[in-house]
Amino acid sequence: MIDILTEARIVSFLAGLLGLTLGSFLNVCTLRWPVEESVVFPGSHCPKCGEAIRWYDNVPVLGYVLLGGRCRACRDRISLQYPLVELATGLVWAGMFSYAGLSWEALRGALLLSILFGIALSDARFYIIPDEFSLGGLVLGLGLAFLPGGIDPLGALLGAVLGFGLLEIVAVAGKWMFKKEAMGRGDIKMMAMVGAFLGMPGVLLTIFLGALLGSVIFGPISYKTKKLVPFGIFLAAGAAVTYGFGSEIIGWYTTNVLHMPPPR
Ligand SMILES: [Zn+2]
Repeated sequence: MIDILTEARIVSFLAGLLGLTLGSFLNVCTLRWPVEESVVFPGSHCPKCGEAIRWYDNVPVLGYVLLGGRCRACRDRISLQYPLVELATGLVWAGMFSYAGLSWEALRGALLLSILFGIALSDARFYIIPDEFSLGGLVLGLGLAFLPGGIDPLGALLGAVLGFGLLEIVAVAGKWMFKKEAMGRGDIKMMAMVGAFLGMPGVLLTIFLGALLGSVIFGPISYKTKKLVPFGIFLAAGAAVTYGFGSEIIGWYTTNVLHMPPPR
């Protein structure tokens, strides 16, 4: 009985609980930051009847389940997005600390993936990437680079400069060619943040994967519906894949396509 309560499992369980709570906060951030509302005041309330949500109904996932997915006051349906985002963020945090152990890298990875998730949700709903995620994340990424392991401060700084610079060039070139905004300011600031976490090679792979995913998945939809491409979602997905598998993908590419000898 006691041997399943190993230290690693406890760490990953506690990280999961922290992730559930952060997921609850992430819901609020993705709904309020894009419309410039405070994430503190007013407190959580039902969007239909305005009734304040009691703290025990606001417990991540559990609150939703115990209420049967309906507001306690008006019985209106609560969006399934709330518990799903909480659950997903909880799983990300539990997963990162299960994979990397109790380490700075686990914290760095869990924070990056949470920020990317928040960006994708904001961009999907509002076509806006809040500065709190992009510029706030940039500062966070540069700061975390001073911790042991992972990317070093110079690598983070160069990555941020490259991410910002490349998308700025695309934006200027796009505006010149199409005579209208081709790239949102939010995407540009977001890639500075991604660069601070993933460095220069990570920026290149993220943009490649983002453009690939965006054109394969959203290209046909956009063609039919004439909807704008929320490019931030695909950049976020590209950055998440790069964080998880970037060195494998880049290693495979340099060995099998460029026929360079594998490093070391
Ligand atoms: Zn209500």
